[in-house]
Parts: sequence; C-alpha cells; structure tokens
Amino acid sequence: MSEEGPRVLIVEDEPEVRRFLRTALDVQGFRVVEAETAKEGLAAATTYNPELILLDLGLPDGDGVDITRKVREWSRVPIIVISARGREDDKVGALDAGADDYLTKPFGVNELLARIRVALRHAVQSASPGGDPVLSVGTLRIDQARREVRVGEREVKLTPIEYRLLVLLARHAGKVLTHRQILREVWGPPYAGEVQYLRVFMAQLRRKVEAEPARPRLLLTEQGVGYRLRDG
Ligand code: CA
Repeated sequence: MSEEGPRVLIVEDEPEVRRFLRTALDVQGFRVVEAETAKEGLAAATTYNPELILLDLGLPDGDGVDITRKVREWSRVPIIVISARGREDDKVGALDAGADDYLTKPFGVNELLARIRVALRHAVQSASPGGDPVLSVGTLRIDQARREVRVGEREVKLTPIEYRLLVLLARHAGKVLTHRQILREVWGPPYAGEVQYLRVFMAQLRRKVEAEPARPRLLLTEQGVGYRLRDG
C-alpha cells in the first residue's frame, strides 16, 4: 500500500470496532494510528497530526464531546464521531462542538468510506476559500453571482431565507448540519433554538426543489440531529 495515504487517528475503546476500522482503512491505503482512551486520543491528536479523526463518543476516561471541543481549540482536522444507537444528544453535542459528521454503530465499510471521502474533501475546500461561485450538486445548480437556482432545466424562485438555507446546505453537501448550526447561520445566533422555523422553511424549500416533497431525495432529514443535502 502507498505510504502517502491520509493519516487517520482512531479513538475507540472496543477492540472489535478498532479492528474493523483498521482493516477497512488499511485496504484503502490510509495510515492508521489507534488510541483506546480519551487521554491517549488527545495525545495522539497532537503528536501524530492526523488528517482525519474517527472518534468514539463513549470512552472509559472521558467523552468524545470534550475531545472534540479541545481539538477544535487548535485544529480544523475533520472529526467523524462514532456513536451508539440512541445517544442522539451526545451526537448533536459533538456536532455542535465542531465534529464534522457521525456514524451510528453498526455501520458498513461503504458508509464509512463515503463519510471519510466527504470529510476529507470539505477539509481541502475550506482550506482554499473563495472558489467557484457556481455550486452544483446532482441536478441542482446554484449560481451565487446571479442568485439563480435551477433543478435540471427548471428555474426555481426562492425567498431570501430559502435561498440562504439551500446555499448553506449545498456548500456542505454530503455533510450533516445540526438544527442549531443551520439556525445560527441562516437566522442568526438568537434563533439557534427555533427548530420550528427551520421545519417550516425546509417544508417550503422541499416543495420547490424536490420532485416528491414528501419523499425527499435531495434535502434529507437526519432524525433528531438536523439535515443533510445529498451529495451526488
Ligand atoms: Ca465506547
């Protein structure tokens, strides 16, 4: 395998999950370092300088939300949290603290690799700001210079809030954004708790851009967490 693959730090206390992750990543040429505790994980994050961190939320000596907060004090490295089913609050807490995405156990190799690809790509994009004024995701095309939105050939007329909401999700295509993150960006910090606003505007937006608004293919709901714009 290539020695040039991205460096990935796995912070996970369950040996079987670590073995599964290492095997999946080794095959793809990633360079992997493992940590079993929060303390080891934080130490490895500073000394190993990983390009991506896979972080279990329930560790014997601390939790992943704290690690996320600490790492974010000095690094923008993509963090994908790994959570057990039914721990929605922890998951949302980690995303709000600056994690990039999450996987719920059990998950498959393909899902893991897809999330890693998205996270690494976003890390590259956010390192080079500015970029293309045209956002294209599948059949969706947003010309930010002209404020023009098309789905296939059809032009879609959006209100200013709907437009901001769509642009935000498209800029982070493939990545989950929490209710709180979206509300803060689109409406402003005082509105971070107004999930109902978001639901109303998301329903409007779906009616305009989705072929079947009741069965969205583009603007996906992440139950109890937020929304994700499907990437491709
Ligand atoms: Ca654990």
